[in-house]
Amino acid sequence: MQINIPDDHPRAESLRIREKLIEGCLNGVVAYAGLIAHGRGEAFDYLIGEQTVEPAKRAIEAAVAALLTAEHPVISVNGNAAALVPQDLVKLAEITGAKLEVNLFYRSPEREEAIKRVLESAGAKEVLGVGENASARIPEVGSERRRVDPRGILIADVVLVPLEDGDRTEALVKMGKTVIAIDLNPLSRTAQTATITIVDNIIRAIPAMVSAAQRLKGQEDSLLRKILNEFDNRQNLAEMIEFIANRLKEIAKSKMSTASSGGF
Ligand code: ATP
Ligand code: MG
Repeated sequence: MQINIPDDHPRAESLRIREKLIEGCLNGVVAYAGLIAHGRGEAFDYLIGEQTVEPAKRAIEAAVAALLTAEHPVISVNGNAAALVPQDLVKLAEITGAKLEVNLFYRSPEREEAIKRVLESAGAKEVLGVGENASARIPEVGSERRRVDPRGILIADVVLVPLEDGDRTEALVKMGKTVIAIDLNPLSRTAQTATITIVDNIIRAIPAMVSAAQRLKGQEDSLLRKILNEFDNRQNLAEMIEFIANRLKEIAKSKMSTASSGGF
């Protein structure tokens, strides 16, 4: 199913992203619930002005520093991430030496295989977490997301979870892992419990992480650890919420001044 989106449509980019997810749904990569989750994300993207803002840029740097200094970094991939940014996920894994692992809330052998195929077509040589390979369990998670690969998330010290559920983020943090989340909602449990939260759309955040990784790879370990140590996630989340609040106030103010001058 191909829908023609005119380039001059004011929401062309957003509509193209939706089409990618619908296509992913029809190909068995994206779960129906993934479409709804995307809608929740879009609403927050609207509030931040569909841009990567300063605090998110700092979180991206810290996240890349964490991946580059990790012993066993893993990038957890779900249907939405695979449908939206497969090439950049593979690139990020290559540059940082991270493993790619399929991890789904709605697990089915078909969906796991479909995601594996998408990643392989994007150049991935190894994809963990598929079928019998997801034989380990992480404690305290009720959903199928508890199933992990003993060569991947189970032994990982740093896990990147683009789009995650709050329960599992909390469980992974409790296991002592550094959890990097990408979540447009700074108020979600995922955003609030992760070690490093990037409040940005994965469409922008993953490519920005690839650029940051290219820039930071090969830098002294001490510099990377400094970036990591100076990062404060609570402070960063507070700045993101403040950014949204200020932006909304500015917009409201500009409406009030037009209203008082008799405009619409
Ligand atoms: P939590 O379980 O963390 O409390 P939730 O239950 O509200 O969050 P979920 O349905 O578990 O949300 O996951 C969807 C999350 O993914 C939402 O918080 C949404 O903001 C985020 N999200 C969806 N699409 C994107 C995207 N393209 N980029 C970044 N974040 C996204
Ligand atoms: Mg949730």
